[in-house]
Amino acid sequence: MAKWVYRFEEGSADMRPLLGGKGANLAEMTNLGLPIPQGFTVTTEACTDYYNKGKKISDEIKDQIFAELAVLEEKQQKKFGDTDNPLLVSVRSGARASMPGMMDTILNLGLNDVSVEGFAARTGNKRFAYDSYRRFIQMFSDVVMEVPKSLFERVLDEVKNKKHVHYDTELNADDLMGVIKRFKTIYKDKMGEDFPQDPKVQLMEAVKAVFRSWDNERAIVYRRMNDIPGDWGTAVNVQAMVFGNMGDTSGTGVAFTRNPSTGEKGIFGEYLINAQGEDVVAGIRTPQPITKLAEDLPECYAKFMEIANKLEEHYRDMQDMEFTIENGNLYFLQTRNGKRTAQAALKIACDLVDEGKITEQEAVCRIEAKSLDQLLHPTFDDIALRDGEVMGIGLPASPGAAAGKVYFTAEEAKIAHGRGERVILVRLETSPEDIEGMHASEGILTVRGGMTSHAAVVARGMGTCCVSGCGAININEDEKWFELGGVKFNEGDYISLDGSTGKIYRGDLRTRDAVISGNFERIMNWADKYRKLRVRTNADTPADALNALKLGAEGIGLCRTEHMFFDADRIPKIRKMILSNTVEQREAALNELIPFQKSDFKGIFKTMEGRPVTIRFLDPPLHEFVPTDDADIKALAKEMGLKFEEVKAKCESLHEFNPMMGHRGCRLAVTYPEIARMQTRAVMEAAIEENEKYGFSIEPEIMIPLVGDKKELKFVKKVIVEVAEQVKKEKKSDIKYHIGTMIEIPRAALLADEIAEEAEFFSFGTNDLTQMTFGFSRDDTGKFIDSYYKSKIYESDPFAKLDQNGVGQLIQMAAEKGRKTRPDIKLGICGEHGGDPSSVEFCHKVGLTYVSCSPFRVPIARLAAAQAAINDEQ
Ligand code: PEP
Ligand code: MG
Repeated sequence: MAKWVYRFEEGSADMRPLLGGKGANLAEMTNLGLPIPQGFTVTTEACTDYYNKGKKISDEIKDQIFAELAVLEEKQQKKFGDTDNPLLVSVRSGARASMPGMMDTILNLGLNDVSVEGFAARTGNKRFAYDSYRRFIQMFSDVVMEVPKSLFERVLDEVKNKKHVHYDTELNADDLMGVIKRFKTIYKDKMGEDFPQDPKVQLMEAVKAVFRSWDNERAIVYRRMNDIPGDWGTAVNVQAMVFGNMGDTSGTGVAFTRNPSTGEKGIFGEYLINAQGEDVVAGIRTPQPITKLAEDLPECYAKFMEIANKLEEHYRDMQDMEFTIENGNLYFLQTRNGKRTAQAALKIACDLVDEGKITEQEAVCRIEAKSLDQLLHPTFDDIALRDGEVMGIGLPASPGAAAGKVYFTAEEAKIAHGRGERVILVRLETSPEDIEGMHASEGILTVRGGMTSHAAVVARGMGTCCVSGCGAININEDEKWFELGGVKFNEGDYISLDGSTGKIYRGDLRTRDAVISGNFERIMNWADKYRKLRVRTNADTPADALNALKLGAEGIGLCRTEHMFFDADRIPKIRKMILSNTVEQREAALNELIPFQKSDFKGIFKTMEGRPVTIRFLDPPLHEFVPTDDADIKALAKEMGLKFEEVKAKCESLHEFNPMMGHRGCRLAVTYPEIARMQTRAVMEAAIEENEKYGFSIEPEIMIPLVGDKKELKFVKKVIVEVAEQVKKEKKSDIKYHIGTMIEIPRAALLADEIAEEAEFFSFGTNDLTQMTFGFSRDDTGKFIDSYYKSKIYESDPFAKLDQNGVGQLIQMAAEKGRKTRPDIKLGICGEHGGDPSSVEFCHKVGLTYVSCSPFRVPIARLAAAQAAINDEQ
């Protein structure tokens, strides 16, 4: 019989895939002898089984849950649903990777009309018992049954208003009894049945709700953003309750062993006296800093610190812990490797190496490659910052600089982002439903909530700048305005946030580019030491190339020459070339372009100081260069001395039904070899002249796009070689040059052995290769890909994350075939995937020579390449 349920003492930290992160850590802490309220974990496999059985929990699983419940009852000397001494439990989700998008915790499960009396008698506190029961009804209805919580809040407000009181704590036992009655009526009205009195029914409904939450929309969005597979499932943790709301010697809190924002060593966290679990994260009451616990409950603080240090030593990483104190007794509810900003991650990893706790390789693997993106974002320009008008200050919840227009709902933030606006989301407080809007925002500002509020935790995870808990703000979300520092800001007004200081500025402050230094540089140096893959960049201008060099690029893997033609002084010339009727006319037009191309290439060669540069010859369909509106066509006709109608007809004749599969790529060079001739001359002359001038030894790499057949490449190659040799002769140079191709058509991958006879190198153009392998237009997938996510056909965008099963097979095959023909063939990738960590790992496995990505992703690729190499050796 399969085992679906594990007591905490039966598990361990390495059972994370089966028990989820929370379950595995609860097990580990139990085995370390720490004070953990006992309980059990229903496995992630039980979740998968629930889905496989058409969303049903099998009798076998149910039996095992109840058997473990009996063991827990025995241990706690309490009984589920008992009149005298009832057992109450919490129910929490816990996936393999922590996922804030999933189900909220349910507390106090096991209370009913009978057990609440037993609970009151045991605790000697009727008010406390009724308050727990009303909270449970509210939570169960909201989280498990999806009855809106606003209905319950309204009742609570009514009762308070009638009594002329402000706080829940001012309601007595009788008031709460009345509230419970009304809550149960709401439940019955909405659900068509009584609130479940059988605790076992409550428990099974809660377990089902956790399983269901694995597939709620927020969780799916979160998974997609974080590359978490949909078939992992979540575990469910059932744990005996301890109470932080039993008076002034009770409390609850969350704490980190190091600062999750900066990485600074030292305890960091918050707690609330006389409060229950979610009160701290919900941001409704403002919590105390953890160090103040030393004054409130010194013994608990000492014990807490001892355990916190022990946990960090044990896990050899910064811990994020939840604890509860019940009548002076300290309990740990969970621990996990804490989420942190990229800046903190770098500092923590370097400090742990210096403290002798981890190796350089481990430090490299501790940094999430994608998170480096946060550090590559701009910070505020010093002068702009000095002159900026500070309107107020909140908590520095997640670092970074952000400036944009304010929006008050996640939905509007998303829409504005879609329009290309920079957005600052301003909310009273955020909740998990806001996740997409938060993702679309440059920065997040909240009125309520501490450093561990939802907004703060999620923003840090995303690397988005966040200032939280700015209580000085007067906000009206419905009317879309807020006031701060005596100024009213309406939707669409600009503000700027500094997530590192918590300062809120008026207007749109200027930012400056990031640099790699300090801990960042140290980690990158370690990464370079261990990686096998080379990292190049995709750059079309000297400015981009310089940026990439600063970020560690070792060469250019893709220089898209067409981008050079769009400048105002060049486009008329390329248009003239396209609209020419004869070869002579075309050549004349191209001759005018040579000086421009040549100086562009010289600029790039000079910037790259002799590092390898791959220049890709003209690729896009020609219609992209010609005007579409009549005024532009008229101007062009005038310049060319042609009739408007003639030019218009010619432009229209360039129309294609499938331009992406039309007259583009090497097909342009097949039909108009003079284009390849012009580009070859420009490349060769530029390289020879820069070599002579600076003493470089550039060997230009000329890359032919969209090849599908050896003969096609051979044809274009012949044209290039003729001109290159001619230029060499003219310039009396013995410069070496290389001709290779992109592999971006499936046929080229299939026939890579033949193509390698002509190509000295392959560069996988995985944008087109994905497009052609899937048959998905790369420009149109946005229209339907969401339905594919919703229907679980695909979990991620194949244009962002390489489809290793399909497209990956083609790459692997082409690499093998290429090497068979030409053992020293140089293999690279220059599609967008070259900067995606999981795709980089694949490239390492396949044994490519280099990856090439946009400048800002160079550090990400360097780190991902090192992680792939280190993991490969283990
Ligand atoms: C590719 O297709 O992957 C590629 C790099 O070329 P482009 O994006 O310019 O088509
Ligand atoms: Mg391409």
